[in-house]
Amino acid sequence: MIIKKSPEEIEKMVAAGAIQAAALDLVAAKIRPGVSTEELDGAAERFIRSQGATPTFKGYRGFPGSICASPNSMVVHGIPGRYRLQRGDILSVDIGVTLDGWVADAARTFPVGDVSPLAENLLSVTEQALYAGVEQCRAGNRMGDVSHAIQRVAEGAGLSIVRSLVGHGVGKSMHEDPQVPNYGRAGKGPLLEEGMVLAIEPMTTAGRASVRVAGDGWAIFSQDDSLAAHFEFTVAITGEGPRILTPWHVAARERGSGPARREAATPAG
Ligand code: MG
Repeated sequence: MIIKKSPEEIEKMVAAGAIQAAALDLVAAKIRPGVSTEELDGAAERFIRSQGATPTFKGYRGFPGSICASPNSMVVHGIPGRYRLQRGDILSVDIGVTLDGWVADAARTFPVGDVSPLAENLLSVTEQALYAGVEQCRAGNRMGDVSHAIQRVAEGAGLSIVRSLVGHGVGKSMHEDPQVPNYGRAGKGPLLEEGMVLAIEPMTTAGRASVRVAGDGWAIFSQDDSLAAHFEFTVAITGEGPRILTPWHVAARERGSGPARREAATPAG
């Protein structure tokens, strides 16, 4: 069952999303060679709690961290730990924030210093795929329009879509209906309606699409150890079109950490 949100409820999610985006930007500012992922986790948790919110992931099905920190060939769900970032790494950071019972969920993959052209392309294309999906989050469209737009951008540039992981509805729970696959056929699937709120989150690799679960039961790696990326927004479908509730791209642009060449693809909101 898809739970639609009223305009008042969406405003509550906007408030959660503002803290989420600020937390992601706080982590962005701390990313450098030598920093450990548990240090990033601690900083994010302190910030989120200082805002009167809670880190949604902490304790979720026993997850020990406040953020997911997934370096290099790890796609998602990395438990923060002693790993120290190295120059040339990429790091996917996923953060959930709950404020007054409403959840905001978003992620971004960061370069650690200068990265290879392969990694740069992976990040750039996956972010573009996210924006292409967001652009289709309009009442009257079908879910397949979102899925297909993401797939077209990512696969069109030679990336693989991790098909076993999907986006989702979000609201008072982190995971609600419907599922949001990152591949599909335009014009197919559930009808999109005003008031739906979706976590749009392409997960890609520079190699093949298959993945494996690590021994800790959480981290998901690309099966072939190719580099992986994850970009995510929480997006509301409104009468005025898609509205990004977790605007980390705005903070990134203001700090100059978002490549200017991608701004043309950035939807309003
Ligand atoms: Mg997420």
